[in-house]
Amino acid sequence: MAGAGPQLSGRQKVALEAMAIDVWTPRIEFMTPQAQAQAPAPATAADEWGALEREALACTNCVLHQTRTRVVFGVGDRQARWLVIGEAPGADEDRQGEPFVGRAGQLLNEMLRAAGLDREQVYIANILKCRPPENRDPKPEESARCEGYLQRQIALVQPGLVLAVGRIAAQNLLREDTPLSNLRGRVHRYGPAGIPLVVTYHPAYLLRSPGQKRKAWEDLCLAMATVPPLRSTAPAQAAIDER
Ligand code: SF4
Repeated sequence: MAGAGPQLSGRQKVALEAMAIDVWTPRIEFMTPQAQAQAPAPATAADEWGALEREALACTNCVLHQTRTRVVFGVGDRQARWLVIGEAPGADEDRQGEPFVGRAGQLLNEMLRAAGLDREQVYIANILKCRPPENRDPKPEESARCEGYLQRQIALVQPGLVLAVGRIAAQNLLREDTPLSNLRGRVHRYGPAGIPLVVTYHPAYLLRSPGQKRKAWEDLCLAMATVPPLRSTAPAQAAIDER
C-alpha cells in the first residue's frame, strides 16, 4: 500500500498500479443535510459512563450479587490523572456504595494528600464491585466476571498512572502471583496502552502495620516522579505518620 502520503498525479498512480502497489485514496462521503439531521449523535463519555454504571448496578454476573448491599461502582474525577485501584468493598463500602471509606479510606485520603492530591482529584475503583462475604479474598472466577467493568472504566478515564493498592489489586492487574514486596519499587506497565502502574500497600494493612508507612511513602514518591501530581503543594509525609 502506498500510504496516505503526498497527492499523486494521474501518471504516478498509473505507474504505481503497474507495479502492483495499491494506491490509498481517502474516502469522502457526502451526507445530505436531511441525512445529517437523522444521523444518531455520537455517544458522549457521559453517555458511556451512564450506561456502564447502570449495567454494573444491575449486575448478577457472579454470586456476590446475592450477598451485597450495594454495588460499589467507583468515585472521583472521571478525567483524573491518577487512577487508584483497590481490592473489593468492605463492610463500610458495601453499606455506603463508595470505595475506600472508613478508617482505611481516611488513610488513603491522607496518602493522596501527602502526594498533593485531594481525593476528588483521583478516580477510585476496585477489582470487584461487590463485597465478598466476611471480606474474604476475591475468587478468580469473580475477578474474571467483574474485570470488564474496570477495564471499561480505565478506558474511559485514560489515566496517566495506575496506583495499585494492595496485593490483590496488584496481582490481578499484573496477572501474576508475585508477592507484593517484590512488585513494589518499580514502574510496571498496564494494558495495551502501557499505562505506568505503581504498587503500594493497602491502607487497611498500613493501619495494622504502621511501621510500613515509610515504604508506602516511597511508593508514592515513585508514583509522583513517574506522573507528577496536579498540584504544586509540598508533600506532607507527616500527614501519613500522624494517623
Ligand atoms: S462482583 Fe462484579 S461481576 Fe460480581 S455481581 Fe458484582 S458487579 Fe457483577
